[in-house]
Amino acid sequence: MRERVIKVLEELQPEWEHLLSQWIQIPSVVGSGVERQMQLKVARAFRELGVDVEVWEPSLLPELPWHPDYVLPARAVLPEIPVVTGYRRGRGRGRSLVLNGHVDVVPVDDQPWTYDPWNPIRDGDRLYGRGSLDMKAGLVAMWAVCAALRELNLSLQGDLIIQSVADEEETGNHTLACCLKGIRGDGTAYLEPAAADMGLVRGAAPVLLVSSRGAQFFRVTVEAPADGGVEYQRELVNPIGPLMHLYHAVERYSDMREAQVTDPLYADHATKLPAAVCRVYAGNWPSTIPRTAVMEGTIECLPGERIDEVMDQFERYLNTAAAAHPWLKDHPPRIERFGLRYESAATPVDDVFVRTAAQSLQRVYHQSPWVTGGGGNDLRHTVRHAKSPSVIFGPDGGHIHGTDEWVSLSSLAKTVAALFDLVVSWCGVDGGDKGWATNG
Ligand SMILES: [Zn+2]
Repeated sequence: MRERVIKVLEELQPEWEHLLSQWIQIPSVVGSGVERQMQLKVARAFRELGVDVEVWEPSLLPELPWHPDYVLPARAVLPEIPVVTGYRRGRGRGRSLVLNGHVDVVPVDDQPWTYDPWNPIRDGDRLYGRGSLDMKAGLVAMWAVCAALRELNLSLQGDLIIQSVADEEETGNHTLACCLKGIRGDGTAYLEPAAADMGLVRGAAPVLLVSSRGAQFFRVTVEAPADGGVEYQRELVNPIGPLMHLYHAVERYSDMREAQVTDPLYADHATKLPAAVCRVYAGNWPSTIPRTAVMEGTIECLPGERIDEVMDQFERYLNTAAAAHPWLKDHPPRIERFGLRYESAATPVDDVFVRTAAQSLQRVYHQSPWVTGGGGNDLRHTVRHAKSPSVIFGPDGGHIHGTDEWVSLSSLAKTVAALFDLVVSWCGVDGGDKGWATNG
């Protein structure tokens, strides 16, 4: 059986490589509207494999925008993009498994690509293109496993459920919508490029992520009382100075939090707990003192912490820093939370689903995976709202979200094999033949 599985997976490789190239050619940039076209392609590809596919609009769930974990998109008007879900129903008695992937990609904008980001070029083991790694390769792995199950004529005991979402890069609301619609598995696997996503490298060992950090965007505004004036009016307060005082307070806060981290899931990470200002703006003319100065950034939190409580603590920290400043103490800054808000979540490392996924990776890579913590990702929804133990693993590659993004095709073949192993071991195969998993 094992030999037959290996042969079928090998024979399928040219097909999934071709499919990956086709999918990269669709510029499904988040918020562009092209995600719809991509979702319809994905729906058709899975339908052709006999998967019972449903294409549905998340706006059919009126409760979605009122859910506490709903993230308000940055743009007021977004095109309505459907979610694609599909069932390959099991014969019963087995455990169900959700495979989740996203079709949206980040923009290319003015990145100086060597290759055409929308016309994938293969160079050796690398396939270049926007979304090659993050994460059309993962979607293709999901497709390849369904194709292999069909080719081998295997009936699973548990249901295998496909979730293709289109807003992971910006909000994650589609995965939340799947949870609210009651679509759940006894386990959930996200086929994201786990190592590249986190900048994690530990030899050739595969990476298995089991958590998501929480996060919240914030904005601090310092406002001068008058309407500004030209630069030589010394009686005017330039709000940029007091804002810089608060900028340095955020840096100290970040250092303090980093020193406090004790979670073993993040112990080996260079940055365990991001907290930074990434955008600053003030003024509109080089010789006019601005009325306001603004900075925006993100505060993150670890599994076990509540993001709202961490934000309360952060605001107290900034207000204390302001109270120690001669001008800010009488002109306190305005601190707001806006946009992105993620609650943290984790699957325990000793959960049977995590152990099963780790064994599948071990069998393919002949090395134990590095089981560690992830950044902000959709796993939080399935852990919190579908009560489904969830993991993330996927192919290797480089330049995620960057110039000349690429995926390693040999690594993707390993992801396909590990995912096939996980599906068979977790869902079970009728007739007691566990195929690949037990005969290996
Ligand atoms: Zn991704």
